[in-house]
Amino acid sequence: MAWYDDFKAILTLDAPLGPKTWLGVGGAAKYFFVPRGSEELSALVRRLGAARIPFHVLGAGANLLVRDEGVSGAVLSLAAPAFAAVTITGNRVQAGAGADMAKLVLQCARAGLAGLECLAGIPGTVGGQIRMNAGGSFGSIGSRVREITVMDHTGRVSTVAREQLSFTYRQGYRDAPLILRAELELTPEDPQRLAARIKEIWMYKKNTQPLAEHSAGCIFRNAAGVSAGALIDQAGLKGLAVGLARVSERHANFIVARPGATARQILDLIELVRRRVRERFQVALETEVVIW
Ligand SMILES: Cc1cc2nc3c(=O)[nH]c(=O)nc-3n(C[C@H](O)[C@H](O)[C@H](O)COP(=O)(O)OP(=O)(O)OC[C@H]3O[C@@H](n4cnc5c(N)ncnc54)[C@H](O)[C@@H]3O)c2cc1C
Repeated sequence: MAWYDDFKAILTLDAPLGPKTWLGVGGAAKYFFVPRGSEELSALVRRLGAARIPFHVLGAGANLLVRDEGVSGAVLSLAAPAFAAVTITGNRVQAGAGADMAKLVLQCARAGLAGLECLAGIPGTVGGQIRMNAGGSFGSIGSRVREITVMDHTGRVSTVAREQLSFTYRQGYRDAPLILRAELELTPEDPQRLAARIKEIWMYKKNTQPLAEHSAGCIFRNAAGVSAGALIDQAGLKGLAVGLARVSERHANFIVARPGATARQILDLIELVRRRVRERFQVALETEVVIW
């Protein structure tokens, strides 16, 4: 009897991860689970612990680079409907970690609630965005989070209040492995004004980012207040390529992958960019993209 026999209904063995990420590259997960609810997830987390199988949590894969070798442990996806429920009560929004942020931004705007427009054009799930404190010059998700519900490595569920949370530049909640849902506090606003604002932010993104190509958003973190994209641009690296991976001409901090690109090519390009920027500006760029 295998350790996963009780979970066969939600398990895919050797599941290719590339198609589940925005970059579209990388190998397979040895064990890929899509639990149907919190109790099943809790039992699975306990079983993984007992079997000493490490696990990763997958959101929309918008900030993820999976190596060509894949993941030898388990990957847990919160894509089941039970993790994507959204309820709006007054100016409070309860959103499951698996909820799609693009849809939530529009849903809140239609309900006349402001605060998430800053996330227009940023792909991902509620859980992934809270993990990364997604955002940018228009604002970040962290400022709207009142409380989150999380699960620890023993499968225990607890809530973490705003006062215990710390959101900094692209660093959100990382203490427990699984974010299950969040309560957001928004501000009443005219839906038409919100729609216009979302359109404005969306157009800005469309004009400055290679949205039609495979990418993972910004590859590097800004270094001590200096824009990583500006450094890469000033080093003349736009268009630099390794195989089918290329530094975007539209946004120097994006690497775009043509169909057929490998994770190895992207990783080599990351190292090349890092080396050239270090040689030119004596700045060591750190990656923002999560590498599995
Ligand atoms: C075209 C494009 C533009 C982008 N622009 C921006 C931008 O302007 N600003 C910005 O901040 N980001 C941007 N990104 C990156 C990406 O959208 C964000 O990082 C987003 O938060 C990723 O969410 P996700 O659900 O896809 O997470 P994933 O990529 O699936 O995972 C990212 C990390 O979060 C963890 N995670 C995911 N879900 C959970 C969960 N439920 N519980 C615990 N951990 C979890 C994963 O384990 C992983 O460590 C962009 C990406 C693309 C492709």
